[in-house]
Amino acid sequence: MAAFFSKFDLHTHSNASDGALSPTQLVQRAYKKGITHLALTDHDCVDGINEAKEAAKGLLTLIEGAELSTLFNNEQIHIVGLFLDTQAPALKEYLKNQKIKRIERAVAIGEKLERQGFKNAYEECKKRAAPGASITRGNYARYIVEMGRAQSADEAFSVYLKKGKSCYVKTQWPDVSVAVKAILESNGVPVLAHPRRYQMTNTKLRELIEYFKSCGGVAMEVGSSQMSPSDRDFIAKLCEKYSLLASLGSDFHVEGAYRELGYNLIIPDFVKKVWEHPLAKPYNFPKENS
Ligand code: AMP
Ligand code: MN
Ligand code: MN
Ligand code: MN
Repeated sequence: MAAFFSKFDLHTHSNASDGALSPTQLVQRAYKKGITHLALTDHDCVDGINEAKEAAKGLLTLIEGAELSTLFNNEQIHIVGLFLDTQAPALKEYLKNQKIKRIERAVAIGEKLERQGFKNAYEECKKRAAPGASITRGNYARYIVEMGRAQSADEAFSVYLKKGKSCYVKTQWPDVSVAVKAILESNGVPVLAHPRRYQMTNTKLRELIEYFKSCGGVAMEVGSSQMSPSDRDFIAKLCEKYSLLASLGSDFHVEGAYRELGYNLIIPDFVKKVWEHPLAKPYNFPKENS
């Protein structure tokens, strides 16, 4: 089957967190790929939104988003907020606390990397992102590759950054409920990000979805760049079962990787789409995504 490219992509990153492109470059790339509705969803950060909105004028519709780091049963879970009021006090408060945690963690990871022979790791890593960017392990992975100490970001994770490896630092991210509440109070739609990517059994995944739903969660990502048709069908059925709306997003970070803007973002017909939510109305999504 020919590759499918969606006109909507509701999960992407810029160099305001661990994406390689500036918000302007990201928007221009999305436009060239035929995207009409793009959400910028940097990790625990909305600093790239204003630049992206400016760049989007006349090209595409930019949706204000963020990807919030949380915990469920000690597992790191990502909750995307879409259609956010980025000026809402609840969101600002959440992001302020996350910023402190992220800086402390990034500094601690940097110190561990220095013990592995990387010089000024934190400063060097920061230099490669936008000023004040939200530094994640993704930033470090690219830096490790650039230093020639791993062949790929994936290898950087397996050798240094993953749980149990020499440069791993655990962080007490807030509970899922805290992120969902902050998003709801900021006029946004909480979306459970990439449900197939967590290291958990299907039973645990159902528990997570039930918990997310009980906290006020509204949607779940059904269309992801790397998803197989059978996984997509499985997640879509869970989406329907728990009366969640379906979202889609490539989780694009960098050119050349297997995740590309719009690529393979498919949602089966039988589930309701997140762009049918009342809060999506001002963004004028066309009914059909093709
Ligand atoms: P953090 O939120 O600081 O724990 O970093 C998580 C980020 O690291 C994710 O958003 C991905 O961009 C990146 N990441 C996680 N696992 C991998 C992997 N195996 N290979 C490459 N990047 C990864
Ligand atoms: Mn990332
Ligand atoms: Mn994520
Ligand atoms: Mn992401």
